[in-house]
Amino acid sequence: MVLNLTVLNIFMLKKIIYQRLCPTKTIKVIFVDKLNCETFLKTGLKIDNLHYDPEPAKPNTQPVQCYKCCKFGHPAKYCKNVEICNKCSGSHAANICTSTDVKCINCDEQHMATSKQCKEYLRNKEKIKKTIFE
Ligand SMILES: [Zn+2]
Ligand SMILES: [Zn+2]
Ligand SMILES: [Zn+2]
Repeated sequence: MVLNLTVLNIFMLKKIIYQRLCPTKTIKVIFVDKLNCETFLKTGLKIDNLHYDPEPAKPNTQPVQCYKCCKFGHPAKYCKNVEICNKCSGSHAANICTSTDVKCINCDEQHMATSKQCKEYLRNKEKIKKTIFE
């Protein structure tokens, strides 16, 4: 089967062993679009009779969450908001929190603002996935 894939770039990943750069068996292939990428993932790759098992790169899909105000989309470094407790949503640091209430600042449900079950977290995660693959 002859495949016509449009490849933008191929990198041979190297690692440093005893201060020398050694090629690994991992190569990174960048495709022009998602279709090319999917075709490749199904077929694998043969270079010089070596078969490379395809594996999609794992892009960073974690939403950025500010640990100061607990909102998504910016790191604490750039935060201009007041500090919000990630436990009770009060305007104080989480480590001095005395409240027994647990309330998420992002969705008002009863979990920590840092919860991976938070629907705001999941919504942001979806958004990132879309920008990577579309
Ligand atoms: Zn913030
Ligand atoms: Zn609190
Ligand atoms: Zn939440």
